[in-house]
Amino acid sequence: MTLFNCYFNYLRNLFFPQICFVCNSRMKSNQPLCPICAEKLKEHHHIEFSDEQKKEFYFTEAYAGYEYNKIIRNLIHEFKYKEMTLVGNYLMNMLFSKLPENFLEDIDYIVPIPLHKVKKRARGFNQSEILSNSLSELSHIPTLNIINRAVYTKTQTKLSKNERKSNVKNVFVLNKNFDISKKGFVIVDDVFTTGSTANEAAKVLKDHNAEIVKVLVLATAKHQ
Ligand SMILES: [Zn+2]
Repeated sequence: MTLFNCYFNYLRNLFFPQICFVCNSRMKSNQPLCPICAEKLKEHHHIEFSDEQKKEFYFTEAYAGYEYNKIIRNLIHEFKYKEMTLVGNYLMNMLFSKLPENFLEDIDYIVPIPLHKVKKRARGFNQSEILSNSLSELSHIPTLNIINRAVYTKTQTKLSKNERKSNVKNVFVLNKNFDISKKGFVIVDDVFTTGSTANEAAKVLKDHNAEIVKVLVLATAKHQ
């Protein structure tokens, strides 16, 4: 490191100290989380489905990186509302390193959950697309923006399970004349709550003869 770089880093740390996104403690590394908060991230797992869900779901398996706790909630919030690509990449990196080996074996394309174009324009980015691109870089599987949101929907956060289902019903369409038959897809999103959004996206792919559809999310949230 040159003297100039040393001095530059010294000044940068003085004026813009790296702080943990969750507990605000100062850190030396440029990770979003301090080691103590990173330690509190609960492990990833396959999402278990009830028999009712198994009948309803068009995807075969779903995998979540983390259990939804205060740490992951704060991180996802930063990521979702402030375009923290750094946070998105950090979480996807950790998730990818722990993914079961065969999870992506039969996958040809990564598919983000689309935002409606009005919402995307307002927010400036689509968090699911950032995660998909990050996964693409790690796995070398291409991202395909193949689904469009045809209908503007209200946010799912305050809706009941059944309201969520009807709120997203038939909102997605396949966006181009692309033959997806016999192909494998993984749908990527930030949070899996009741699964109704991912399921609608999976339905569009299966309706067009996709062979395999799986779901990968940062975290599962219990639906209250
Ligand atoms: Zn911390």
